[in-house]
Amino acid sequence: MKLKFLGTGTSQGVPVIGCTCEVCTSENPKDSRLRSSVMVTTDENRKILIDCGPDFRQQMLTNKENHIDIALITHEHNDHVIGLDDMRPLIFRNGKDIPLYCYERVGNEIKNRFPYAFTDVKYPGAPAFELHEIENNTFTVLDTEITPIEVIHYKISVFGYKFKNLAYITDANFISEKEKEKLQNLDILILSCIRKFDPHPAHFILSDVIKLFEELKPQKMFLTHISHHLGMHDIEDKQLPSGMHLAYDGLEINF
Ligand SMILES: [Zn+2]
Ligand SMILES: [Zn+2]
Repeated sequence: MKLKFLGTGTSQGVPVIGCTCEVCTSENPKDSRLRSSVMVTTDENRKILIDCGPDFRQQMLTNKENHIDIALITHEHNDHVIGLDDMRPLIFRNGKDIPLYCYERVGNEIKNRFPYAFTDVKYPGAPAFELHEIENNTFTVLDTEITPIEVIHYKISVFGYKFKNLAYITDANFISEKEKEKLQNLDILILSCIRKFDPHPAHFILSDVIKLFEELKPQKMFLTHISHHLGMHDIEDKQLPSGMHLAYDGLEINF
């Protein structure tokens, strides 16, 4: 299987509009971060998208992706769902609703955000989704076993997802001991890290993810959902513990 980072930025993206900091004005493409999302491709070339934020259209075009079999949604915040309307070309071409997998709560929020996609009689150009409400249990779809990992993001629970020996977790500031059991000795752990200093009420910062790296002992860890307060990619990446890296848009991992 492979996983490609379509976006590795926090909710405002990097550069931040109007910001003149060294990260936002950097000419290194690795310092430009679209909103966080990944595409997982199975060995049978089936496409699993995780999250669909405001940069979804651009991400599909840039990465020459033109198909999605299912989408897994981590949670309902805008930077993870607001691109769903832009799935319309895929829906029209295939004549099929796109299956979305998420918590019941998240499904309800998606219905509130896109009510026209769920009415019985739809406007001819409306998108259409098939909602699959999932709980915190392993499920199999597209011949792929997927294990949700429930993490806390300020006051809401968010699903990370594990495939084989890789887990992708974004938007978290707490992981319970029970859920950590699913994350021991992974080959690859992808974890969100919003910035270097200053504790954040809803997100891990660098010292938190280093602690988790030491505790969970993945072979490799990649950081995502990064803001302009984490520093320049080429400088910061070198200073991380061995085996830990900053992800960047376009990075692809085989697992
Ligand atoms: Zn987010
Ligand atoms: Zn900036």
